[in-house]
Amino acid sequence: MSSNRDLVVRCPFDDSIYGTLQSTAAEQVPAVLATARRAQAAWATVPVPERARVFRRLAGLILDNRDRILDVIQAESGKARLSAFEEVMDAARAVRVFAGSAPGLLRARRRGGAIPLLTKTIEHHRPVGVVGIINPWNYPFNLPASDGAQALLAGNAVVLKPDSQTPFTALLLADLLAEAGLPAGLFQVLPGSGAELGPALVSGVDYLMFTGSTATGRKLARACAERLIGFSGELGGKNPLLVLEDADLATAAAGTVHGAFANTGQVCVGIERAYVHTVVYEEFLDRLLDQVGSLRVGVGYDWNIDVGSLSSAGQLAAVSAHVDDAVDKGAAVLAGGQARPDLGPYCYEPTVLTGVTPDMLLCREETFGPVLAVYRVASEDEAVERANDSRYGLNASVWSARRGPDVAARLRTGTVNVNEGFAATWGSHAAPMGGMGESGIGRRHGNEGLLKYTEPQTVSVQRLHRIAPPPRLGNEGYAKLMTTAIRLLNRGTR
Ligand code: NAP
Repeated sequence: MSSNRDLVVRCPFDDSIYGTLQSTAAEQVPAVLATARRAQAAWATVPVPERARVFRRLAGLILDNRDRILDVIQAESGKARLSAFEEVMDAARAVRVFAGSAPGLLRARRRGGAIPLLTKTIEHHRPVGVVGIINPWNYPFNLPASDGAQALLAGNAVVLKPDSQTPFTALLLADLLAEAGLPAGLFQVLPGSGAELGPALVSGVDYLMFTGSTATGRKLARACAERLIGFSGELGGKNPLLVLEDADLATAAAGTVHGAFANTGQVCVGIERAYVHTVVYEEFLDRLLDQVGSLRVGVGYDWNIDVGSLSSAGQLAAVSAHVDDAVDKGAAVLAGGQARPDLGPYCYEPTVLTGVTPDMLLCREETFGPVLAVYRVASEDEAVERANDSRYGLNASVWSARRGPDVAARLRTGTVNVNEGFAATWGSHAAPMGGMGESGIGRRHGNEGLLKYTEPQTVSVQRLHRIAPPPRLGNEGYAKLMTTAIRLLNRGTR
């Protein structure tokens, strides 16, 4: 059990104290869940179009409060303003898309009954109850906004445990939801440590949506399995990018820069390895290095920074360790490769490496920073084979005029962006997003992302006759009758 203590949030721009708040104690979690449960019982009776209205308002409020949200996201995470804006833009669009699709998706649907005319069968989607969301620091606003929207639209209450580093962003989201008209108790935030609050949360919720590392995801999946509750995990990645012979190299280079260095490389779907066809390798690399050289690295709230700070000393140490290990083992640094304490305590240069070999940490492990390894490949087949050679399977990016969709079919990743790094699939909110392999289980966004927060319930009403031998027919007569009936039914079934 834990007790309340002060949670001190530091701003990565200068390591100053941004704010202090009291963390939730583990023993308070059951009361929070009880409040959520009471609020959920009433919310489940609210018609879906009325629930959706809250999220239409939320979408507007997110845009109206854009700058206020950007300031808090940046202060807690250290990211560049443009990266923070990508979160805000994503959240405003996602919640609106989900509000539009929820009423149709959650409508009760008539299904074919056991006996035509005699059995009336309806499929319903009932809310699971209370959904726990555990979120990381790298996207502290759009992830809980969009996951929360899907869970709430489905009729659930949400209890969010944000990362210890980003509680104020989560609390701002809670304020906006209240302003949008969400009834009290339906969206509660538990600031505090995951290791302390996680067990209490998992032991009381009806579903857990987790975003974070594969290691933590595994632990939480085990705990959910023990309770036989649903679990969805959006976990790590080591995402490949393929530049094929017929790629437009100018756009491929620009797209690679965004894919690898947006959000200072701290993006689950961000690009960490590029496989470039030998025919275009030199030209692509020249164009890439040109673009990387013009990136403005730094800290602060103005719009003129392309690559912001890493989020913490821990992140800086992890990124430096990967690059140093690669350099020690013989990799060549073509751009960056250094921390920039002169710009900000956790700034790190956008880095491009070649000569990366399997004995180097960053060859296979997720770096989660502004570091890209570029590899020369002899063919499309080699690019596909090497892209798939990973325990992860979150996102892939393919640059090609004609081959994109065919190559996508051979890639083992949950999303494939053709002629884009990650934003095209991520921003397609009506389609599912998530990972294969050790990148996760379950999907967010799309129909799957909403329906996972429901329990399908089938209700069948039987009329006139039960499905059993009528007394006058006898068992054998019934079997004969039904054999003929099923033959006829099967003939008429496509
Ligand atoms: P992490 O250590 O797993 O932390 C993520 C969240 O889990 C935090 O809120 C953390 O709490 C909490 N947590 C930690 N241990 C816990 C436990 N034992 N029980 C319950 N909760 C626990 O992840 P991270 O390394 O900070 O985040 C980066 C990772 O997230 C990367 O691997 C990245 O790829 C992944 N990510 C994936 C996606 C996606 O959609 N696939 C999106 C974004 C990020 P505290 O830190 O507050 O204690």
